[in-house]
Amino acid sequence: MSTVNVAIDGPAGAGKSSVAKAASAQLGYIYVDTGALYRAIALFVTENNISDGDIAENLPRADVSLRFIDGVQRVFLGERDVSDLIRTPEISMAASRTSSIQAVRDYLFETQRKIARENNVIMDGRDIGTVVLPDADVKIYLTASAEERANRRFRELAGKQDCPTYEEILKDIIERDYNDMNRSTSPLKQAEDAVLFDTTGMTLEQSSSRICELIREKLMGDDK
Ligand code: C5P
Repeated sequence: MSTVNVAIDGPAGAGKSSVAKAASAQLGYIYVDTGALYRAIALFVTENNISDGDIAENLPRADVSLRFIDGVQRVFLGERDVSDLIRTPEISMAASRTSSIQAVRDYLFETQRKIARENNVIMDGRDIGTVVLPDADVKIYLTASAEERANRRFRELAGKQDCPTYEEILKDIIERDYNDMNRSTSPLKQAEDAVLFDTTGMTLEQSSSRICELIREKLMGDDK
């Protein structure tokens, strides 16, 4: 029996993970956040002081895996759960850099494919519809203006210790967009058969329910 695969790609902070989480809970699919894999590699590289040129030969030692505990994704380096450690601005920037290395992408490719072969998934990332799951049943390219994405992130972080300024967040977002869209390996771009969905000015609830509708419409059309 074939599994249902939904691919959601788009730039940093577009709301992919919030929307994908809400939609997968409604549809009973597993939500797979592939950015966590790239972040885990970045953490491994940072903690072990590995230079970019030496990353390829050290990858087998990283032993990255995704595990689903009560349906919720956790990411591991060996037996260590690093799901919380990977959520820092330093690791965001490091992941944006190390994800452009082809060996890193090759190393993570099969991990992502295997989960999609074995489960009904909503998988989010940058190259899911274009490279990882080119035959996905539904492809969505989720975006919002850089200013709106920075604003959402600023509101999330407001009041927390060491909260960056709005300008710093916007600068990071623009830099990560540039890196993701201009790298030679698997750059971020809309797949030809993806539905473009701009969430600027929409609430999370509005975006999630529209995404669920889109998925249902598409799957009904395909008779899945
Ligand atoms: O989605 P998230 O911001 O957590 O991803 C961290 C970084 O990992 C991104 O900036 C991007 O460079 C990289 N990434 C990628 N391909 C994916 C998912 C994430 O290159 N499928």
